Amino acid sequence: MDTLIDPFGRAVSYLRISVTDRCNYRCTYCMSENMSFLPKNDLLSLEELDRVCTAFVQRGVNKLRITGGEPLVRKDVLHLIERLGRHISSGMLKELTLTTNGSLLAKYAHQLFAFGVRRINVSLDTLDEAKFKSVTRWGSLQDVLDGLAEAKRAGLEIKINAVALKGTNDRELNKMVSWCGDNQFDLTVIETMPMGEIDFDRNDQFLPLTLVREELERNWTLEETDFRTGGPARYVTVRETGRKIGFITPLSHNFCEDCNRVRLTCTGKLYMCLGQDDWADLKTPIRTDKTDESLYAAIDRAIGNKPKGHDFVIDRSTAAPAVERHMSVTGG
Ligand code: SAM
Ligand code: SF4
Repeated sequence: MDTLIDPFGRAVSYLRISVTDRCNYRCTYCMSENMSFLPKNDLLSLEELDRVCTAFVQRGVNKLRITGGEPLVRKDVLHLIERLGRHISSGMLKELTLTTNGSLLAKYAHQLFAFGVRRINVSLDTLDEAKFKSVTRWGSLQDVLDGLAEAKRAGLEIKINAVALKGTNDRELNKMVSWCGDNQFDLTVIETMPMGEIDFDRNDQFLPLTLVREELERNWTLEETDFRTGGPARYVTVRETGRKIGFITPLSHNFCEDCNRVRLTCTGKLYMCLGQDDWADLKTPIRTDKTDESLYAAIDRAIGNKPKGHDFVIDRSTAAPAVERHMSVTGG
């Protein structure tokens, strides 16, 4: 079967699946405290999610990332991960991975490894208990630390995702680089993106990564690498720790030209670009056609509409978010 090539010649080899938009945390940059979530009746079942993922794998997608909301709060999500693991065993999939807030990892880490997951991203913005509470509103730092310890024991490789937050973790990122080195974690620092209404002004949280990098360079030797994942991160190696740091600056356009990914929501909407509102409906084709013919046709049409790039901007003159949906709908 043909692989998926978009109108700009980019091969689509990576699918992210937000299995739920719900979460047991309420990170201030991601959600408002009182969120309305998608109605449960609209969700694709785990079998339907497996069917869509499998169609993408048949068309050459070789990396799947399960995300959310918090993916591990979706009931029985481990069944989906177990099913998808068959594509790892068959060699069609190079990587099956997960982005999680880590709160439930202590419970699930060993199963994840058993089902073929080898690397995970865990979001952790601060190592300070009080700050952690104020950023996540409902979280407990100890749960995440316990989850990380169990994930290490299970043999999972771990990358920490930290969102750079002015006034919260700007003074702490040096410590996090050191802590990641001690624990053999890679680190990705992410700029906040204007997605969805939150309870704060995003300008007040926004910390440009140019400043983060300058600060880190005062303490660490950052060596350029040409390591790429087809995503927005640019990586350096910290000479003193040997670990990688990725910088994700989504507001810059420099990564769009080699974008290799699309994103599926838990209600079967396929977003071809994180920073655009256009989506394609994959729920109707799977519910109206028992064969996968209509699904493949819908996927082809969607990839044919993948835009060249995004239109993100955060500035004082644009109070509204660049896209209305929250990051938790597409999972980043
Ligand atoms: N709940 C899981 C977690 O926190 O890892 C998975 C979903 S979360 C939406 C995925 C990533 O998006 C996390 O690393 C989170 O920090 C990041 N994120 C959420 N909202 C963001 C925003 N507005 N700008 C930048 N990153 C954001
Ligand atoms: Fe939940 Fe992840 Fe969003 Fe935090 S960033 S509220 S953990 S989905």
